[in-house]
Amino acid sequence: MPRVLLVEDEPAIADTLVYALTTECFEVTHALTGSEGLAAFGENPHDLAILDIGLPDMTGLDVCRKLRETSNIPVLFLTARDSEVDRILGLELGGDDYVTKPFSPREIAARVRAILRRAGSAAAPVATEVAADEVVAVLHHDTSAMRIHCHGSVLDLTAHEYKLLLVLLARPGRVFTRDQLLDHAWEDPGAVTDRTIDAHIKSIRAKLRLVRPGAEDLIQTRRGLGYSLAL
Ligand code: CA
Repeated sequence: MPRVLLVEDEPAIADTLVYALTTECFEVTHALTGSEGLAAFGENPHDLAILDIGLPDMTGLDVCRKLRETSNIPVLFLTARDSEVDRILGLELGGDDYVTKPFSPREIAARVRAILRRAGSAAAPVATEVAADEVVAVLHHDTSAMRIHCHGSVLDLTAHEYKLLLVLLARPGRVFTRDQLLDHAWEDPGAVTDRTIDAHIKSIRAKLRLVRPGAEDLIQTRRGLGYSLAL
């Protein structure tokens, strides 16, 4: 059973997460503060840490830095504010990820499995019927080769298409506005227009269709809002 360290000070959130993860066959250690979490990690090795950013004694980012002094444990951050997301992204996460509150416990469980799979952990349990996980299973990001696979086939993406799909893939189900996609995938967002995003999405869809003919579109258009990866 993979062991998950959960550091979250809000009992209601922690309870639902412990329940969801235990149901999905993870062994969960729950800590209410950063120092409690670090102590628990020192006592027992864990396969993954879920760290709330806003903790009473230190930030989840501080906890992560401490953990990283002695281990390469993958981390999933829980964040309540978009301003925190910028700080998380500033860490230039490798195999790590973040989720913005409010989230569904199922989403977290799916994300944990995906991270463990990416980390190549033999401990990752086989996926159950969770829809979010199926999306992640259809698309696989090879971080070192900087390529995205779909059903095992490498997608022949341009650099911008790759970055765009990566943004969507990081947060299945979340709707990104065209502006957000521009910000994430272009170094100079001012130089391009919303239309550019639409054209690139169209091209990515075409490339996905080559690999999965007849299948439903993985990239959903939310009229008037933007795009999301199907959940
Ligand atoms: Ca908190």
